[in-house]
Amino acid sequence: MAAWGAATVRERALRVAVLEKMPRPARKLMLTGKGRCNFTNAKDWEAFQPHIHPNPRFLRPAFFNLPPEKLRKLLADNGLPSVVERGDRVFPASRQAVDVVDCLERMVRQAGVELLCGKEVKTVARSENAYNLSCADGSRWECGRLIIATGGLSYPTTGSTGDGYVWAREAGLEVRPTFPSLTALVPKGYKMIPEGAGKGLRHIERGLPLSPLGKSLCGISLKNIGLSVFIDGQLSCSEQGDLDFTDGGIEGPTGFRVSRKCVSALNNGSRIRLEIDLKPGLDERRLAEKGPDWHKLLPKDIARGFLASSFPASPQPDAAGLARALKHWSFDIAGYVGYERCVITAGGVCLGDVSAKTLSAKGSEGLYLAGEVLDLDADTGGYNLHIAFSTGLLAGQSAALSALSL
Ligand SMILES: Cc1cc2nc3c(=O)[nH]c(=O)nc-3n(C[C@H](O)[C@H](O)[C@H](O)COP(=O)(O)OP(=O)(O)OC[C@H]3O[C@@H](n4cnc5c(N)ncnc54)[C@H](O)[C@@H]3O)c2cc1C
Repeated sequence: MAAWGAATVRERALRVAVLEKMPRPARKLMLTGKGRCNFTNAKDWEAFQPHIHPNPRFLRPAFFNLPPEKLRKLLADNGLPSVVERGDRVFPASRQAVDVVDCLERMVRQAGVELLCGKEVKTVARSENAYNLSCADGSRWECGRLIIATGGLSYPTTGSTGDGYVWAREAGLEVRPTFPSLTALVPKGYKMIPEGAGKGLRHIERGLPLSPLGKSLCGISLKNIGLSVFIDGQLSCSEQGDLDFTDGGIEGPTGFRVSRKCVSALNNGSRIRLEIDLKPGLDERRLAEKGPDWHKLLPKDIARGFLASSFPASPQPDAAGLARALKHWSFDIAGYVGYERCVITAGGVCLGDVSAKTLSAKGSEGLYLAGEVLDLDADTGGYNLHIAFSTGLLAGQSAALSALSL
């Protein structure tokens, strides 16, 4: 995504420059949707907004300024038709993220915007009427309007390293504590955690090797299971859908859906237990009646992983015990995979310090914020990119209007 928007007014003509620190723009966009880029979601606002956290109302003006159908039309008019898949998720018709990047780059250049790569902004200073930026390559920039769109902290190799939080703080804005979301939850005993790593360790490196338990589960994909989250022993929520065991831990759409809540609770010192219902369509009595035939209900790899983790030492229990275990496959959660491989950063620039209508920073004239740097994140399904596109557009329009009305 665009990193920076900077505008100066010269004889009422705007000069707009995007300063991007990476050699190519939109590195993260290339990774999205497993390289297919699920760039928005076709739901209307009522169905869209429950997927936005922590305050969907903040997104409302940006959403109605650029609803999903308008974004699709804008891209289609610029050579990028799109298709809608399951769950109203919208992808480019080519299913290639690179086509979205190319389309955006074309649009930016056609609009006369200077797109400058390899420009890592190091410092931002405010003088009386302008923002003064200095870049790692020694170049200096002055602008009357500045848009911070530096993203969050996830996948830092794409360029998002949280720089915008520092400048927002320097401008007097509150930055809410950040934490990884849409990330793998690591069950206890799933990874080989080095001795002395600390009992309270919550962030567990994705690269740590799997334990024998992890190896027995990694690679299993569960379809249409039930997932319940218990926080300090209390049922917090239940979801239904697909879930994957990966080299990170528990992921997949349903795992991701509960990860925000779980990471936040773990960081607050709470205990998390996840319970998988492998057969939500059958009750325990019906399952127990299957007797030894229960094996036929599950693919072999799942049955093997389930037995290895549920009954590691003891012999298999009776039919009733097995049925109970199938309905309550339990995992105490030790921690989560951090920014190195999470999809989104939760937390960020406090929404109370930013106008939802213009995305201008309150009390810092000429400063605007857009995208993941804000304390705004969402579930999987194209919502996060819609936040980025719609807040990006509104911030750009507001900055331009403000500059032109000088
Ligand atoms: C693996 C993965 C898959 C995803 N899939 C999807 C998906 O399918 N659908 C969806 O909706 N969302 C998805 N997301 C989330 C989505 O990518 C983000 O919400 C979105 O990219 C945020 O956009 P942004 O412009 O705010 O930040 P970013 O995309 O992070 O862009 C910020 C840019 O700022 C630049 N920058 C940072 N600091 C500086 C500096 N000091 N100077 C100059 N430039 C700087 C960075 O290099 C970067 O290019 C995915 C994320 C990941 C990691």
